[in-house]
Amino acid sequence: MSENSGRADVVIVGGSHAGGECAFRLRQGGFTGSIALLSSENVLPYHRPPLSKAFLSGEVTVDSLLLRAPAAYEKAGIAWHPSTTVTAIDRAAHRLTLQDGATLGYGKLVLATGGRARLLPIPGGDLAGLYTIRSIADVDALRPAFTAGKRLVIVGAGYIGLEVAAVAIKTGLSVDVVEFAPRVLARVAGPELSAFYEKAHAAHGVKFHLNTGVEAFLPAAGDASHVGAVRCAGGAALPADLVLVAAGLVPNVELAQAAGLEVNNGVVVDEFCQSSDPDILAIGDCANFPLPFTGQRARLESVPNATEHARVAASVLNGAPSAYNAVPWFWSDQYNLKLQSVGLSQGHDQVVLRAPRTPEGFVAFYLKEGRVIAADCVNAIAEFNQAKRFVTNKLSPAPALLADSAVELKSLS
Ligand SMILES: Cc1cc2nc3c(=O)[nH]c(=O)nc-3n(C[C@H](O)[C@H](O)[C@H](O)COP(=O)(O)OP(=O)(O)OC[C@H]3O[C@@H](n4cnc5c(N)ncnc54)[C@H](O)[C@@H]3O)c2cc1C
Repeated sequence: MSENSGRADVVIVGGSHAGGECAFRLRQGGFTGSIALLSSENVLPYHRPPLSKAFLSGEVTVDSLLLRAPAAYEKAGIAWHPSTTVTAIDRAAHRLTLQDGATLGYGKLVLATGGRARLLPIPGGDLAGLYTIRSIADVDALRPAFTAGKRLVIVGAGYIGLEVAAVAIKTGLSVDVVEFAPRVLARVAGPELSAFYEKAHAAHGVKFHLNTGVEAFLPAAGDASHVGAVRCAGGAALPADLVLVAAGLVPNVELAQAAGLEVNNGVVVDEFCQSSDPDILAIGDCANFPLPFTGQRARLESVPNATEHARVAASVLNGAPSAYNAVPWFWSDQYNLKLQSVGLSQGHDQVVLRAPRTPEGFVAFYLKEGRVIAADCVNAIAEFNQAKRFVTNKLSPAPALLADSAVELKSLS
């Protein structure tokens, strides 16, 4: 982008699930002004979920990750600016400064800056052989080391860590997973689901080190610049040819913060994705918003959330504001296990397990005061669709009937 190259009526910072979708939703809603979509990355908006699944395993290519073909942007009149990082927002002048010193004016600004992988501030953090997964570039960097026979240590037993563990096992690496919490998926799932996944991974040969902090990355005996082991609290050292740090996400809020916007675990917005500045909205992983489903503020990291935020922001910018109105849901693929989760289980006072249809299946309903507030469904697509109905419509089916796989869930909604 050349210096002082102009202005766009709507500038979207961050060209991924939220930003890319917002641009198209704007056009679909009849927006006729100019739209500029800026991204630090050099790839058009793409699906991130396959990065730790089919893209890592080599089953799909970059082209198949793209959310839309390049021609769609041209046709929709969306100006795409790859490798363009915004470094500052001048709110008074409605102007952005870019990495190369150029500037770009905006009428309205949408922050869709997502987040970055959390790094561990421990000794050895700068050694070669340490990886994170957030982008295509990250997977490209990891792939040459991700080969059969290598010893992989994964720090963090969240979804991304466990998905990578599954691909690694399939690829022929040995896998150790170190997790600070007493169970896998502790931040996002109930104990029943954690136990189910721990058992499934252990059956494939993954070794878990739970209740275990990581203290340092140690250099290899023959190469002081490359990682050779992970030292855990208590002194044990796990040999490692490579390490994946999958310790969560840090929202990219520095731009908003420096511009004086309200920030608190994300850019603080209302139910219309409006920030504390009426001309700036924030959407997707970087936004902290009031989730009507729980009545509390949340910052969610999922594609369905990014898509809903994109819809909301576009509705506001098109002059027909429509508030956030979605129930959170998520999916994860590990081995032959397809997990679909709906709702948020925090605060449940009862768990109802339903006998699975298949030996590898699993269904857990989470209830609060009799109402279904969340469900985890593994290899249970029909059950998931019904569970979504229970959660969305705030239903209170009898627990005994929920648990009985002879009773059609449909008959309970
Ligand atoms: C490995 C992996 C697996 C996942 N699996 C699932 C899954 O199975 N299901 C699911 O629902 N979700 C999954 N997610 C989460 C999902 O991908 C995210 O919730 C989603 O990508 C959020 O979209 P976003 O647009 O808000 O942010 P991001 O996708 O993070 O995009 C933000 C973009 O903004 C750019 N940017 C940041 N700062 C600037 C700046 N200053 N200037 C210009 N550009 C900037 C970034 O480079 C990036 O391209 C996964 C994520 C990862 C990483």
